[in-house]
Amino acid sequence: KPKVFPFTQHGVRRESISPAALKITSRLQEAGFAAFVVGGAVRDLLLGQHPKDFDVATNATPEQVHHLFRRSRIIGRRFRIVHVMVGAETIEVTTFRGGDDTVTDSEGRILNDNVFGSQEEDARRRDFTVNALFYNPSDETIVDYHHGVRDVHARKLAMIGNPVQRYREDPVRMLRAVRLAAKLELRIDEPTRKPIAELASLLQNVPAARLFDEMLKMLFSGQAYQCVRMLRQEGLHQGIFPLLDVIAEESAGADFIRLALENTDRRIREDKPVSVGFLLATLLWGQVQREWTRRMDFGDKPIPALFDAMAAAERIQDDQLAIPRRFATTMREIWALQPRFDNRDGSRPYRLLEQPRFRAGYDFLALRAAVGEVPQALVDWWTAFQEGDEAQRQALIAAAR
Ligand code: ATP
Ligand code: MG
Repeated sequence: KPKVFPFTQHGVRRESISPAALKITSRLQEAGFAAFVVGGAVRDLLLGQHPKDFDVATNATPEQVHHLFRRSRIIGRRFRIVHVMVGAETIEVTTFRGGDDTVTDSEGRILNDNVFGSQEEDARRRDFTVNALFYNPSDETIVDYHHGVRDVHARKLAMIGNPVQRYREDPVRMLRAVRLAAKLELRIDEPTRKPIAELASLLQNVPAARLFDEMLKMLFSGQAYQCVRMLRQEGLHQGIFPLLDVIAEESAGADFIRLALENTDRRIREDKPVSVGFLLATLLWGQVQREWTRRMDFGDKPIPALFDAMAAAERIQDDQLAIPRRFATTMREIWALQPRFDNRDGSRPYRLLEQPRFRAGYDFLALRAAVGEVPQALVDWWTAFQEGDEAQRQALIAAAR
């Protein structure tokens, strides 16, 4: 029933699979089980891109997988996955899942999805055709139940089955459609795209933590700016997740956010590290900055005004956004440094330079200058101060008076 493509028709060599995933599929196969590399990795390789990670699917149960690999552990309560460690790599190994006797609630969402099934059933419960391909490293074939290979070549993102029903089962698939289309430059197939606007409100029922995770994946996809534009285009930016509203609706701060997202995209493409806290600080800065300015207009001093503005923004976030504590702390530290860049007297610049978040604060200041919020000369001063020797620093301090 499935199409089986030999190497000559797809060109994916076993050498492009990570050694850990190769070792796991071959050990499982030697033990008599079926085992494949699945999902995003196969898709990415067919598209000529570098996969982020390799997942393995098998007909062995989690216990059987665990038994075969000493360095492994069974995780998860709802979907039991086995993490297998090989060298420094960790590979997720999942048992084929069935879809026939899943229990759904009145809105069609899946409540119990932990029923093992055949390879064919496993393919059917995946989201998009291009995500449902199985690669067998031992003979370099691709097993395709849903025309995924054809769709990859047509650069088309199409839902398996009835899109409306699949979005009802799991509304996050709408966000995944946008993210994967933006990231991989695929066109969303019309029947898959069309219902999104109407079903967008279903995302309100998704736990905030899962939305936050998905949002991070979008922001760090290397195509964050494009993702946000597409979310808006598909009607997914409103009322779903407050932080997305902030990004998409921020008309006053739009330039600032665009710059921040483009900056992040560039860093990811160049394989440079990116900080979640820093990006969140830029996305929410519009709110803080407006309130800060308003309070200073009332005659408050800059630093107390900023701290009050930060507290106000954080109250909204506590109510609406599920920003984990550690990111919130970084955000606050970066904001709190901003007024201190204005104070360039005596020993102050030296003390600021010693701050652990100095570099992030300075990068943030540079973004503010790029949109005209502070003079570029201030950023240049701090650039020179960081790079200068003692005499040059003294001269800079004297010049700033
Ligand atoms: P990425 O490149 O971001 O990792 P991915 O497609 O690999 O993209 P994962 O979240 O790693 O995304 O999921 C691995 C695979 O699991 C997918 O390729 C897809 O087959 C399946 N999958 C993930 N999320 C869903 C979902 N919400 N509904 C159905 N299948 C899903
Ligand atoms: Mg993946």
